[in-house]
Amino acid sequence: MNEPSEDWSLPDGVQYYDNLCSAAKCLNPVGSKVDWVMCDSCEQWYHVVCVDCPMEVIQKENIQFHCGLC
Ligand SMILES: [Zn+2]
Ligand SMILES: [Zn+2]
Repeated sequence: MNEPSEDWSLPDGVQYYDNLCSAAKCLNPVGSKVDWVMCDSCEQWYHVVCVDCPMEVIQKENIQFHCGLC
């Protein structure tokens, strides 16, 4: 038996967790639970830790997030 191990399928626009995000100084966080947040202006994806995004912004979809460049 040779089952396929893991199927990495991420939504469009979300890069693999090992990648750097679009932040000027990406902290390159690693781990199984790395959260990403998308800027509502430039539609770039960022690590939550890299842009110091408050958790409430991530959890409430009606709050828009803007990265440091926007
Ligand atoms: Zn990052
Ligand atoms: Zn932006």
